[in-house]
Amino acid sequence: MKVLITGAAGFLGSNLCDRFLADGHEVVGLDNFLTGHPDNIAHLIGHERFQFIRHNISEYTYVAGHLDGVLHFASPASPVDYLHMPIQTLKVGSLGTHNALGIALAKGARFLLASTSEVYGDPLVHPQSESYWGHVNPVGPRGCYDEAKRFAEAMTMAYHRAQGVDTRIVRIFNTYGPRMRPHDGRVVSNFIVQALLGEPLTLYGDGSQTRSFCFVSDEVDGIYRLFHSQERMPVNIGNPNEFTVRQLAELVIELTGSASKVVELPLPADDPKVRQPDITRARTLLGWEPTVQLREGLVRTIEYFRGLSGTPRLQPPT
Ligand code: UDP
Repeated sequence: MKVLITGAAGFLGSNLCDRFLADGHEVVGLDNFLTGHPDNIAHLIGHERFQFIRHNISEYTYVAGHLDGVLHFASPASPVDYLHMPIQTLKVGSLGTHNALGIALAKGARFLLASTSEVYGDPLVHPQSESYWGHVNPVGPRGCYDEAKRFAEAMTMAYHRAQGVDTRIVRIFNTYGPRMRPHDGRVVSNFIVQALLGEPLTLYGDGSQTRSFCFVSDEVDGIYRLFHSQERMPVNIGNPNEFTVRQLAELVIELTGSASKVVELPLPADDPKVRQPDITRARTLLGWEPTVQLREGLVRTIEYFRGLSGTPRLQPPT
């Protein structure tokens, strides 16, 4: 197969490129490096089945030749990023999704949308199954991401129903691992980098809010299976093991052997109090479930960030 992956230089996009290439497929990667980083695809430049286009998918996009698949992964994905770039976030979820669907339609290609657990907002149902419609504040600071992704899901279903595009929707829950940006502001990268630099770990609120963390290799495997399945309705892909954010901070301090302490800072507006995927559909439809648990995944992620020690990427941004 020949697939187009938007957001190819991002954390998930680049790991997905690797997966398709490892299985013998051809990949056209597209990224404008807004939040992606060239280092994530440096090893692919020159690969005979990889081609890279530097471009913003929110603008008109032309891709030559045939395509069998389009996977739309371009978007800021950290709350800190989408707070700083709300308009780009709204555009890539709306105009970017429209353009990516247009390419899929023109090429007769299968389309997969990277959606998110944020479509459930600050959920009133726990754990979250795909049948839950969510509890999102459209005018709050996270609204730009949540509503863009909800629009993207609606647009994807419209292209399926009205235009016959063969579509898939994955709802991705908190994912971590190598190639996260050291300073993208998400909790796993923040805590590990802070611990490695000997700085205090910034716990927002009292740390009793929960998240369920999925290691990147599991997440990519679930997405890859969904892409190759026949399932058109949304599927949650995430690890259902739930932790408080304080437990995560303590585990990071233990595994890095850091002398860092924890400081409590104000909880951001609309921060979801709980989050845990119900993965019954992924289990039954895709035969998928995560295999890497938090302790092991964190050890591998810490190793990755240690490897950046001494490079400008690990230093706090000036
Ligand atoms: N968080 C934290 N310290 C940080 C970054 C995040 O305590 O330095 C908390 C944040 O308030 C949220 C959770 O960790 O409750 C997960 O945040 P993240 O930004 O990773 O993603 P989210 O799940 O909110 O989209």
